[in-house]
Amino acid sequence: MTALGVTPPPATGLSLCVLASGSSGNCSVLVSRPDETGPRRVVLLDAGLSPRRTQRLLAERGIRPDEVDDILFTHLDTDHCHSGWTSAFRPGGWRARLRIHRRHLGRAERAGLLFRHTEVFEDTLDLGTGLDARAMLMSHDDLGVAVFRLRADTPAGDAHLGFATDLGHTTDELIASLRGVDALAIESNYCPIMQHESDRPAFLKQRITGGAGHLSNTESAQAARRIGPRECLILLHLSRQCNTPVRALREHAGCGCEVHVTNQHRPTPWFTIRGGAPRCAVPAPPRCPRTLFDLVSEPPTRTVAP
Ligand SMILES: [Zn+2]
Repeated sequence: MTALGVTPPPATGLSLCVLASGSSGNCSVLVSRPDETGPRRVVLLDAGLSPRRTQRLLAERGIRPDEVDDILFTHLDTDHCHSGWTSAFRPGGWRARLRIHRRHLGRAERAGLLFRHTEVFEDTLDLGTGLDARAMLMSHDDLGVAVFRLRADTPAGDAHLGFATDLGHTTDELIASLRGVDALAIESNYCPIMQHESDRPAFLKQRITGGAGHLSNTESAQAARRIGPRECLILLHLSRQCNTPVRALREHAGCGCEVHVTNQHRPTPWFTIRGGAPRCAVPAPPRCPRTLFDLVSEPPTRTVAP
């Protein structure tokens, strides 16, 4: 942290900070800079916080609104796309391109998110300056949710980040598309026991646990073990009512890398994704939309290494 209380990202490489994660708002910032002499790319993964709060949190990390190049949406539920973004783009302020999956276009239009700088993606995205992504659509509500495998040039070589939230369930194709990433951010939404014993109505429990809502700690841990992140595992979207950081961490114990839990109210530190490991070719993501529901929950906190 600098004398002014600003915590900027590392000078080079690929870095991620989860500004907030949970049913009250999801937003992460990804910064990529292949070398010290070149430009950096700044990408928001979801924008579930108000523009004003996002601006404040970015300022605390040394990033101005006009430096954000892209806002990449997993889906457009209100906890991932705050309504304030429809009126945020004015001269002199935010200028980021909105990147919206083709399946979400109709919803984006109804939400007032189709600007001249809105771009549609399906399977792949070129984010510029040595940063790109492959997307895979998973079931969540009727329209699905996009899961990303991002790749960046770094001084050490390629760095890969998997970003998967609001999954509901996993598939072999999803595991294959994320296998061997350097860092994996994946939801670990609820403890099945707490969910079962909660006073939530039966229909809500069914929506969350029925394969179209969220992953339990157990499902998340099984997926993470199969994916095998090389450097670190970041747990997203913990339910405030039906999970605790301790329960989530316990389920992910022994995963073979550092584990961190994100929080609704406190941003994480910068995670530096070093990369550079030799790897096999990444299989192309299959297209597999489905039908679904969504759900709710909220997360707690803490950053822990096992
Ligand atoms: Zn969500």
